[in-house]
Amino acid sequence: MKGERTIIAAAITTAVQLTSTAAFAASGERISVLRAGSQPSTAGAPETFTGAVRVTSRFKGTDPGRIGGGIVSFDPGARTAWHSHPLGQTLFVTTGIGLVQHWSGDIQEIKPGDFVWIPPGVKHWHGAAPGVGMSHLAFSEALDGKAVDWMEHVTDDQYAN
Ligand code: MN
Repeated sequence: MKGERTIIAAAITTAVQLTSTAAFAASGERISVLRAGSQPSTAGAPETFTGAVRVTSRFKGTDPGRIGGGIVSFDPGARTAWHSHPLGQTLFVTTGIGLVQHWSGDIQEIKPGDFVWIPPGVKHWHGAAPGVGMSHLAFSEALDGKAVDWMEHVTDDQYAN
């Protein structure tokens, strides 16, 4: 009886291994882990950001997946320029206090744990509150290899209102 169970267990294990091998052979891809700190952080370009901004853990999915993103950290008062995303964007606030606004809309405060969905093509900006920095995870899908369309800077007047 015990021997029978052992044989059945071994058969199940073999079946699972064969299935896994077949799945690997079909995709040709292995799971990859992008280790924390393995990517150099980059400064937000002055053409597309105001104030000190750092992007870390930047990642990009592999075809046919088109998700990409990273962790964006804004110093107090720092923000993106106005921009839009062809397939939209999801933000998840991890630290601090942030602000987000769509064109002609009110500025909304965002805090750790908040998810923000920016629909495709909506002109908007996001950044830190005046006196407190903010970090968020940002994810967006690329359309024809492009995930963002940059526009003009957010002026101090726009930021203060
Ligand atoms: Mn955005």
